[in-house]
Amino acid sequence: ISNFQIVPQSNRSIEIFNVESIRKDFPILSEKVDGKNFLIWLDNAATTQKPKSVIDRLNYFYEHENSNVHRGAHALAARATDAYESARDKVARFLNAPSLNDIIFVRGATEAINLISQSFGKFNIQKDDEIIVSNLEHHANIVPWQLLASEVGAKIKVIPVDDSGQILLSEFERLITPRTKIVSVAHVSNALGTIVPIKEVTKIAHRYGVKVLIDGAQAISHIKVDVQDIDCDFYVFSGHKVFGPTGIGAIYGKKEVLATMYPYQGGGNMIADVTFEKTVYQEAPNKFEAGTGNIADAVGLGAAIDYVSKIGIDNIYRYEHELLEYAISKMTQISGLRLIGTAKEKTSVLSFVLDGFDTQKVGEYLTSKGIALRFGHHCAQPILRRFGVEATVRPSIAFYNTKEEIDFLVEKIKEFKNSHF
Ligand code: PLP
Repeated sequence: ISNFQIVPQSNRSIEIFNVESIRKDFPILSEKVDGKNFLIWLDNAATTQKPKSVIDRLNYFYEHENSNVHRGAHALAARATDAYESARDKVARFLNAPSLNDIIFVRGATEAINLISQSFGKFNIQKDDEIIVSNLEHHANIVPWQLLASEVGAKIKVIPVDDSGQILLSEFERLITPRTKIVSVAHVSNALGTIVPIKEVTKIAHRYGVKVLIDGAQAISHIKVDVQDIDCDFYVFSGHKVFGPTGIGAIYGKKEVLATMYPYQGGGNMIADVTFEKTVYQEAPNKFEAGTGNIADAVGLGAAIDYVSKIGIDNIYRYEHELLEYAISKMTQISGLRLIGTAKEKTSVLSFVLDGFDTQKVGEYLTSKGIALRFGHHCAQPILRRFGVEATVRPSIAFYNTKEEIDFLVEKIKEFKNSHF
């Protein structure tokens, strides 16, 4: 990692957070997409860019450590196993999980939720039982539950949100019945940026003996996560959203809950003994990691966590928060611009529509100016419909973004408006 400054609590982080130095760690930020202007990456909610240390770590693995893990006794098997298990340990520490054995590697948040809905759900959720999600979930936290519900005959209930896009805790409590088995909610909404009060959600759910899954896909790169403090039963995230490689993610599961769950898939790696009559499974995490996993990318995720930890997630939060406030103040000065998602507790995401203009056209104009952002439904159709829209333009920030990039975005939105009258 190149130099960065630890930001003292009392200072205004945006002025002293050494963003220019941080940007140098990300080779792709020097890319010119149109031959002249540097890339403006405001699509961080979709995926994040990778620092050189992560790219180098992947190369190092393939040049010096590549082997399957756990199986062989040779030197490279030992190196690969050490690297893989050390990455698991890094994830555990990053989430403040009690043990590295509470961490299961998966492809990403989507696979994580599918695994839990099948492995936990199929055996704990039966006909007429209830699953609670919130109105602001990504499709990845809706569809797996629908699949399960239609398989076993369970019912899905939805926590409503207020007009700012925050969930209504009191309504949540009212939805719980003796048939409620799990509540699965996002830590941060990918469409609105709302930070959901997951600690309170967990506390309420546990009061009724209901298990809690937190989808941390949009929180993991922005907010300190402490699974013991939250006390959730599961916390899941994708590596590519926290500056790591694609195709790798993790589940934190409480030891005692994982112990009661059946495997998701069967195969090598996850067994203690196999006969044609009976298979004895290993304990977690191996029980849930059948076959050869994504070893190199897990190691890359470990490097990404090292990178983020060195900058400090609290420093990142402060810097991004000021940048977000700056962006909100500038964007809301544009007449006709409507921010979708105005919760007090919010991070990273700046979904908006321009009254009187086609969202697709706005998005296409901005991307044509070299601003990488997403426009569409963001795989979260129910929450956009709650706000009466089918699509928004969604810039989303990370700690390598700057005020200058926000100024450029704002200038281009105004330019679009003026040129389309
Ligand atoms: N959950 C949320 C809140 C997300 O934003 C996303 C991706 O955008 C996912 C789940 C799914 O993540 P992945 O596609 O990496 O599995």
